[in-house]
Amino acid sequence: MTAPEAGTSHYGNRPSLGRMLARASVRHCPRCGSGRLFESYFRLRDHCPGCDYLFAREEGFWLGAFVVNFVVAEGAVFLLMFAFIFRLAATEGTQQGSMLSWLVMGVVLAVVTPIVFYPFSKTIWAAVDIFMQGARPDVDRHGRTRRG
Ligand SMILES: [Zn+2]
Repeated sequence: MTAPEAGTSHYGNRPSLGRMLARASVRHCPRCGSGRLFESYFRLRDHCPGCDYLFAREEGFWLGAFVVNFVVAEGAVFLLMFAFIFRLAATEGTQQGSMLSWLVMGVVLAVVTPIVFYPFSKTIWAAVDIFMQGARPDVDRHGRTRRG
């Protein structure tokens, strides 16, 4: 059990978006910073072990995590395409590199990135949701609604 930081409480003030995203980017609870949120690499616990925060707020909640994961995976492929175009322009098309290696890198990136990024997409989406929910009440694991 992690104690809330100074200036925050488990059900009161929330940390800044930057701090929540920083915590989420290392798979920690965006709200309290507690670790051990995952039972396995892919399986997120229902509640934070530190602050009891319920992650899946409603049915379809993880659609946002899917979008985060999709944007990151497509961004990685976009960067690879940009590198390919830049290289082609830099050599003015004189260097005949293997197009197959670029295609293989693109396919590997498109497949591996969303798998590796999957747990991060969940904690990042939880951070975004906490930031956006504003005055929405918090619900603990017992279904009790609490306000700051
Ligand atoms: Zn927490």
